[in-house]
Amino acid sequence: MHDHTEETDALALKIFEYAKARTRLDPIPLNFPKTEAELDELCGETITPDGIGGITALELFTDVLEPASLSVDYTKYLSFVPAAPTESAVLFDLVVGAASIYGGSWLEGAGAVYAENAALEWLRKIAEMPEGSGGVFVPGGTVGNLSALVAARHEAVLRLGEDRPARFAIVASKESHSSIEAAALVMDCDVILCETDENRRMTGDAVAALLDEHGDRVCAVVTTSGTTNLGIIDELRSIGEACRARDVWLHVDGAYGGAGLASSRTHHLFDGLELADSFIVDPHKWLFAPFDCCALLYRNPERAVDAHAQHAGYLAFLDSHGDKNPSDYAIHLTRRVRGLPFWFSLATHGTKAYEAAVDVTLDLTNAAAEMIRHADHLELAHDPNLSIVAFRRIGWDAAQYQAWSEDAMNSGLAFVTPSRMDGEPIYRFCFVNPRTTTDEIAEIIDALR
Ligand SMILES: *Cc1c(COP(=O)(O)O)cnc(C)c1O
Repeated sequence: MHDHTEETDALALKIFEYAKARTRLDPIPLNFPKTEAELDELCGETITPDGIGGITALELFTDVLEPASLSVDYTKYLSFVPAAPTESAVLFDLVVGAASIYGGSWLEGAGAVYAENAALEWLRKIAEMPEGSGGVFVPGGTVGNLSALVAARHEAVLRLGEDRPARFAIVASKESHSSIEAAALVMDCDVILCETDENRRMTGDAVAALLDEHGDRVCAVVTTSGTTNLGIIDELRSIGEACRARDVWLHVDGAYGGAGLASSRTHHLFDGLELADSFIVDPHKWLFAPFDCCALLYRNPERAVDAHAQHAGYLAFLDSHGDKNPSDYAIHLTRRVRGLPFWFSLATHGTKAYEAAVDVTLDLTNAAAEMIRHADHLELAHDPNLSIVAFRRIGWDAAQYQAWSEDAMNSGLAFVTPSRMDGEPIYRFCFVNPRTTTDEIAEIIDALR
């Protein structure tokens, strides 16, 4: 099974050819999901006692499995939060796989972890978090949020000792991401929902009032920068000050929006972020990295180690080789060095190219908003924030929204799914792909007539 044969050489060539062709594919097809029964029919048994061989398995992937999986980098994929990894990041992902590196400890992954840390350090700088802040790349915002909140609770337990409450609570707004609710469930904590102002932002005054009302029950405040649905950024500075004054942990969820730090046009929206005790951003969303990649940063990484490090006899040797083990900063042990494709692309293109690419998506956002303002069948549901445009199709009910989206997906016209705002259906465009063109946006807007 591990022999180096001509067959593996041939397979390597095929795989390199595939990777090269896929990174050049233009246009990229949306593809279309199939049912399990259809895939059964098309694939037959793939796991057999003798194996079907690499070439056959690869063909099965390219001919059947891949076309039944959506391409998130399709230029008219504007739903949810898509992705648009750079060619260099995607290609380097192959290298990461081939290199067989264990990313959990410094002892085992020193070189790779060093490079991951350089990428984290760039994020720390644009976030203006204090020097010495640091952390780790985890699979996604959900694990990042949970890990940060577990560290926050640990801090509160240490601070309060015997006086700690039987059950902690997390303050967040109703606009915050569903993963906060999920984290609270795992942690057996309550979520205290904070009112938002007329701009749907959580404010320092509202947070201060809740903290005064609930006292030591609150182990963390979560602000979102920006929200997944509308891109709204909470009032970071005054919330941070309210937290500081009361010794409460501030977590900033920038899973989607944190990329806006990279552009001088949106950087100021994050004013106050340096007050965060923890911060996440997903490079797999709007920073052109492949799945899966979330950067988790702590103001005091050593404190997070206290909450997260696993101890076992068979691991003790690792601790004798320094204490900067990526495993110790989140809920995980074994990990892929998933920050490396992002690092490689940053190193390749330089940070200016990142700013320029984010700016292109901001231009697309403005262009889309302008077209919607001028379309009599559409109206903006909200002023655009970051790279999200939310709008209504005038006169349609939820069923019509749904039906149009299904048709658009089936015909390959676009992947634009309905969302909701205050219980009412809306459409939203989320721009993270600099290859999307204004002509494509115009085409979608026209098709909504
Ligand atoms: C996407 C998102 C998450 C969850 O991130 P995953 O990488 O999907 O786990 C959390 N918070 C916000 C604000 C998000 O946009």
